[in-house]
Amino acid sequence: MGKGFFKVPTAYNEPIKSYAPGTPEREEVLKQYKAYYHTKVEVPLYIGKEEIKTGQTRPMSPPHDHKHVVGHYHTATKSHVEQAIANCLESRTAWANLAWEQRAAIFSKAAELIAGPYRAKINAATMMAQSKTIHQAEIDAACEFIDFLRFNVQFMSEIYQEQPDSAEGIWNRVEYRPLEGFIYAITPFNFTAIAGNLPASAAMMGNVVVWKPSDSQVYSAQVIMEVFKEAGLPDGVINMVMGDPVMITDTVLGSPDFSGLHFTGSTYVFKELWKQIGTNIHNYKTYPRIVGETGGKDFILAHPTAKPQQVATAITRGAFEFQGQKCSAASRVYLPKSTASEILGLVKSDVESFNRPGSPEDMGNFITAVIHEGSFDKLAKFIDQAKADNDAEIVVGGGYDKSVGYFIEPTVILAQDPKYTTMCTELFGPVVTVYVYEDNDWEETLALVDSTSEYALTGAVLAKDRYAIEQATQALQNCAGNFYINDKPTGAVVGQQPFGGARASGTNDKAGSPQNLLRWVSPRLIKETFVTPEDYRYPFMG
Ligand code: NAD
Repeated sequence: MGKGFFKVPTAYNEPIKSYAPGTPEREEVLKQYKAYYHTKVEVPLYIGKEEIKTGQTRPMSPPHDHKHVVGHYHTATKSHVEQAIANCLESRTAWANLAWEQRAAIFSKAAELIAGPYRAKINAATMMAQSKTIHQAEIDAACEFIDFLRFNVQFMSEIYQEQPDSAEGIWNRVEYRPLEGFIYAITPFNFTAIAGNLPASAAMMGNVVVWKPSDSQVYSAQVIMEVFKEAGLPDGVINMVMGDPVMITDTVLGSPDFSGLHFTGSTYVFKELWKQIGTNIHNYKTYPRIVGETGGKDFILAHPTAKPQQVATAITRGAFEFQGQKCSAASRVYLPKSTASEILGLVKSDVESFNRPGSPEDMGNFITAVIHEGSFDKLAKFIDQAKADNDAEIVVGGGYDKSVGYFIEPTVILAQDPKYTTMCTELFGPVVTVYVYEDNDWEETLALVDSTSEYALTGAVLAKDRYAIEQATQALQNCAGNFYINDKPTGAVVGQQPFGGARASGTNDKAGSPQNLLRWVSPRLIKETFVTPEDYRYPFMG
């Protein structure tokens, strides 16, 4: 920092627009959606100042209308990935040495561009690529992404202000250096905000990044790159490459300059990456930072004193919004026998009130398509299995159809066995499994919730009884990184509920918090002595 202790703009959460009939934002986003639908885009690789069209392309189609092609993206060869790494390293010195307020300005500007001129674009692209309803696109691609950028700028300035005390005659200073080398960001399909935040948070702290978005999110990833460029992010700081994930990863992790992984996605992939980094450890110049937020099997536990209507709403919203494809989505539910049939009846009538799954362009739809055919086929298989199994029954839903889009009906499975396969396995779709416990077995049920899944991402307890809430908070302390009382387990807001889980759900470095940003710096302590000793003898020696 040069000539002032600058105070960054105070971060605040971006207000969510309603998109109600007659609002200008509704008109604007639908116009943008139509424009995208009727044009074909070509997404290049972004390497340094170049936008590379390799000619090796893959088509992009909306999951709700998979026969319609909205464009193609170009895929990288190994030499493109090497070029991306080389560009990172070339850009590193200038970027790492740039005064922090310039970095703060770039990412603050990106936030305001999304809040204003890019809002309709990034939302429409997310509706198209990931089949989000406008509300789901707005809370993700616009609001959460803006919040990540605004709050991280503020957290960065707070981190820089964290300084040690100094005794008389000396001055201790800490410099928060970016990591030496480059960061590899791998992002999932389900949140445009996460896709943008993973490379941006590392870059904000002065790092250079190779970013590999999900194949299913490239369409909206391109808008993110447009925003970064418009905000003035120098070429080569974030390099976006698409293509074969194994080849890209082998090339990136094979570089001695690899210094950190910022990952969000499934548990298996993350564990394999960790293993590969371990195997290569002797080749790296530094110990790489490994940050990963991964799978979940998130629960709702209702106590007999919980209000049935509130539990039902938590299930309907928590399990089915965005087709259950939030890492935090409720996917296993524990209901007491005394209120279970009332709660299930309410959920059933909620689900029956939804339109059939359809396009997000029809704003009456609450449910759209799941992300791709692989996900559709997997979900259909579990639903068929539940129909066939004697110890499971379908309470509502159970239908599916992929003739136009990858549509799966919101489905509630009632399981007799608390360890039934869909009580334990992450399905990542609009399927929730319910187990009914005896009211007197509250304590045993707490132990069951704690021990049923390898994951520990989110969970919710609903109860009126304060002793029960206290008991659940204690008993379930290790099985959710984000724990909700009398609420659904989804919808974490940046700056309010920092997000991340433990066990097989990730390293819990809380995205959208200073803890996460601290993973992307390597502090240097500088001690300066004002009157330097000139005699080695200490007074006691006299
Ligand atoms: P995914 O694991 O299939 O893909 C994530 C990313 O990893 C993609 O970019 C993909 O191309 C890449 N990838 C896949 N195989 C790879 C390989 N062998 N080497 C390197 N990269 C590889 O996950 P997804 O389907 O995109 O997202 C859903 C998953 O993400 C779910 O498990 C969900 O719980 C998790 N998720 C977790 C959080 C969280 O905060 N904990 C948030 C969002 C999503």
